[in-house]
Amino acid sequence: SPEWDQSCDVLVVGSGAGAMTAALRAHDLGLKVLVVEKSDRFGGTSAISGGGIWIPCNHRIAALGGQDTAEEAIAYIRAVTNGEVDDGRIEAYVEHGHRAIQYLEMNSRVRFEAQAAYADYYPEVPGGKPGYRSMDPGPFDARELGEDFMRLREPSPGTLMLGRMTMTMKEARVLLCRGPGWVGLTMKVMWRYWRDLGWRLRSRRDRFLTLGNALVAALRASLKDRDVALQLECRLEKLVEEGGRIVGAELVHQGRSLRVETRCGVILGAGGFERNQAMRAQYHPEPSRSDWSATPPFNTGDAIRAGQALGARTALMDHSWWAPTTHVEGEEKQRALFVERNLPGCIMVNSAGERFVNEGAPYTDIVYAMYGSNREGATSVPCWLIFDADYRHKYPCGALLPGYAMPDSRVPAHLKSYFHKADSLVELARAIGVDEAGLMRTVERFNPMAEAGSDLDFHKGDSLFDRYYGDPSVTPNPCLAPLVKAPFYAVKVDAGDIGTKGGLLTDVHARVLREDGAPITGLYAIGNSAASMMGRTYPGAGSTIGPAMVFGFRAAEDLHAQH
Ligand code: FAD
Repeated sequence: SPEWDQSCDVLVVGSGAGAMTAALRAHDLGLKVLVVEKSDRFGGTSAISGGGIWIPCNHRIAALGGQDTAEEAIAYIRAVTNGEVDDGRIEAYVEHGHRAIQYLEMNSRVRFEAQAAYADYYPEVPGGKPGYRSMDPGPFDARELGEDFMRLREPSPGTLMLGRMTMTMKEARVLLCRGPGWVGLTMKVMWRYWRDLGWRLRSRRDRFLTLGNALVAALRASLKDRDVALQLECRLEKLVEEGGRIVGAELVHQGRSLRVETRCGVILGAGGFERNQAMRAQYHPEPSRSDWSATPPFNTGDAIRAGQALGARTALMDHSWWAPTTHVEGEEKQRALFVERNLPGCIMVNSAGERFVNEGAPYTDIVYAMYGSNREGATSVPCWLIFDADYRHKYPCGALLPGYAMPDSRVPAHLKSYFHKADSLVELARAIGVDEAGLMRTVERFNPMAEAGSDLDFHKGDSLFDRYYGDPSVTPNPCLAPLVKAPFYAVKVDAGDIGTKGGLLTDVHARVLREDGAPITGLYAIGNSAASMMGRTYPGAGSTIGPAMVFGFRAAEDLHAQH
């Protein structure tokens, strides 16, 4: 048709891990694919993430000495999602997840390793496992990407050693608590970085890619192998429907309108609406701010709104992949506190100085608790992470490196406002506007429990999950130590997120559904553009990118089957 500027079989909107998996599968099924990305970098939040995926019954479990069954996985997801997600999507995920990942490993540059010791987030729930289901991307050599490397979204500063050098998840975990071999490992990470001498003269970016960067780069390189086009700075504005089916899309490419005909359909993988303040105000609990998010600034709900404009149904719009985050002066996005809460020698308190949650709980649950207990006189949005001098010396906390590597006297100027410090708990409470007597009472109660290794109030460190990021050298409970040594510190914690999880309601094939439950022909949504199949919970590390990739894979297959 002369009115179209361009034509393809499948338009994939977004360039996160889910979108690129969909593009790869669609191409391999013989479809002509165009991938469009709004920003001038590809990879989305997927690129700055840990890149972990949660895949029950994955093909690496047996070799690691573990076992898993579809029945157990389904029972577990059902239990933790509390009956809020239809069985069909749960079953589809468990059935197709390992197949999709094996397909990628056999047909592309993508590689994963299963993490034997990374427990599900609720390992004590029936069907829960002490490990094996979470998989990390294998490291990836940026040279395989050629010039496109400079178009890959940069990793989160929090995942880099000294703000530059990449680490695998395994390496980061050893360094976190200076586990056995940490000195040698530090040298290794530095050597890996500095031996790339020619490149060092050109860029400070490490070419040894890990985590989300490795995953996204491997996917992008695999698409390049296939000559699948990726158009950067190209934003979806509107979907074009004719006779009840999607026939194309209106885009804006570098400020100019671009109309693309889509002979088979559109797969929306354009992330959630975490960076759209108006949508947060409309859907989220109060208060909710887009600048508390740990995500890049481009996911503004465009795809969700384009679907809504066609009468698509949404779900879970008041939920997010919540995570406590902290603000770092001058950074584009906030830093999520994934591990620091689990370490011994810290507590989280509200403005009354009271604890209100198990600090070692999964990040999503922390923010649910922040909202759940937020009340006048005992504000928990925001709340405070409080720790003592021992903790400060031994462990990193958000943007602060451990004191042994970055003593207070050497904290850079832009981090001076990141934390509060005082010689006593009373002075600290006064400085941050927290009730002094309340904080004293809390610490007096907490300290003997911490010594004894048993948190009678919130059970920190009881779960295998809490202990994964504890300090194994601390006994009897690797997540508990009293706060005794002055000075004392406080870091303000916001009710942030690592993406929203409400979006277009989809079926087992990732097809977008109308208000009446009928699918919109040719329209698919995956990742955070779709309402999560994990309900309001977070079953295990990789529960957001896992489904994004698996349903991206499924969407491509269904789209192909329809043609
Ligand atoms: P994205 O990966 O964000 O991709 C969406 C893309 O669409 C973006 O590039 C965006 O620019 C583009 N886009 C937006 N609007 C348009 C438009 N109109 N037109 C064209 N393109 C558009 N989850 C896990 O499962 N495992 C982890 O290990 C993990 N670690 C994390 C660590 C951190 C620090 C953070 C912040 C998050 C982490 N997450 C993790 C969460 C996870 O990264 C995200 O939930 C997930 O990547 C979202 O995937 P997506 O495909 O929906 O969106």
